[in-house]
Amino acid sequence: MNELSAFQIGQKNDAYAKYFAGQSYLNVLSKDQVFIANVTFEPGCRNNWHVHHSTNGGGQILIVTAGRGYYQEWGKAPRELHAGDVVNIPANVKHWHGAAPSEWFQHLSIEVPGENNSNEWLEPVDKNFYEALK
Ligand code: MN
Repeated sequence: MNELSAFQIGQKNDAYAKYFAGQSYLNVLSKDQVFIANVTFEPGCRNNWHVHHSTNGGGQILIVTAGRGYYQEWGKAPRELHAGDVVNIPANVKHWHGAAPSEWFQHLSIEVPGENNSNEWLEPVDKNFYEALK
């Protein structure tokens, strides 16, 4: 994985492991001004459905740095992602993101500043639905 990206994969993402299926890794790049982390997903790893709540502004931007994965908003088809893709996730929209079932995936996660930002973690992505993805 490191051969494919300029960003180190960092440490096992133990703090959020309960909201993920499979192993992810976290490398915090910026804590000041705007929070930016590099998140690496092993093949098959994805996060639960979740919402980045905000009363003004907020949301999340993903910048894909390596591998192949998916982003899906509730009620919509999954969007396949490759290195260089950018995903603007509005605040208050239920979604998940993660690796393809058989490929590594890595993205920068940018927390968009806003008022009263908070994250709400919900149910896992349906296993059969996920495993049917290519
Ligand atoms: Mn998200």
